[in-house]
Amino acid sequence: MEYLDRVVIAGVGLIGGSLALALKASGSVEEIVGLGRDPDRLRSAVSAGVIDRAETGPAAVVPGADLLVVGVPLGAVRAVLESIAPHLRAGTVVTDVGSAKGSVVDDLRATSIDPAGFVPAHPIAGTEKSGFEAAFPELFRGRRTILTPMPESRPEAVDVVRGVWEACGAQVIEMSVTHHDRMLAATSHLPHLLAYGLVDTLGRWDPTEEVFQYAAGGFRDFTRIASSDPVMWRDICLANRTALLETLERYREDLADLTALVRDGDGRSLETVFRRAKTTRDQYRPVFEK
Ligand code: NAP
Repeated sequence: MEYLDRVVIAGVGLIGGSLALALKASGSVEEIVGLGRDPDRLRSAVSAGVIDRAETGPAAVVPGADLLVVGVPLGAVRAVLESIAPHLRAGTVVTDVGSAKGSVVDDLRATSIDPAGFVPAHPIAGTEKSGFEAAFPELFRGRRTILTPMPESRPEAVDVVRGVWEACGAQVIEMSVTHHDRMLAATSHLPHLLAYGLVDTLGRWDPTEEVFQYAAGGFRDFTRIASSDPVMWRDICLANRTALLETLERYREDLADLTALVRDGDGRSLETVFRRAKTTRDQYRPVFEK
């Protein structure tokens, strides 16, 4: 990637902090500035060595930025873009890390920011933890980052964002916003909704919570992601609601079929479904366990 004098990260959390650490490790950025709302947390991020400098207002740092990364929950993206818009100079590339892309594109178009300098991005990497305290520089290594360039995005701006993610060790691919949102609704957003839903159902069904005393590896594996940040996942489910509803509806229909097989004692058909699922899961094991 080309050497960047200043990268500003608005939202120094798990993703923004990990990006800062990975870029520092790559030696390709002179200065990484964290932009945020809480001076105490930003000071702690500087002390922890995650960012070089912290600011709570965009005026001081945005005009000199080569790259600005928006790393806040999806519900806060528009307000952050609006706050930086008056301070952006023409050459600054703007990107984001949001888990849904259609809403981010809508947010961008609602501001005065030139779409030619904007390149939406989504690193397919994360954990159930939040905050810069959970950040680590290897988070993106060997993982994919999806870029969904705007029709207006300048090729040079796309190259800058591609270079940044490659410098973090990510494999960069490009696709349309619609395709991204459909794929991620199925593989990420639906599973999170199901995990939250299952834990909540069991917790309310048994107020003594005795049921959790008998939970073993299967329950742990299925529900780990229900420990993720509720605000972030609320925002994702709402931001990508069209694609999520589509995949949820398909799943509800199949779940109704499975329910009928259990009710009818149709072991042969149940086994057929389970075998088909096992074959698919086993086939992709190397991908899932990377
Ligand atoms: P996070 O660890 O909770 O960090 C969020 C950051 O945004 C924090 O710096 C927080 O500031 C700031 N923030 C929160 N609400 C804000 C608001 N209303 N206004 C301004 N700043 C606000 O979250 P994350 O996991 O890094 O996720 C950030 C983005 O990455 C989200 O859009 C998410 O969709 C996307 N993403 C997440 C994952 C994942 O697995 N976690 C993976 C890929 C992409 P404070 O420190 O002051 O709270």
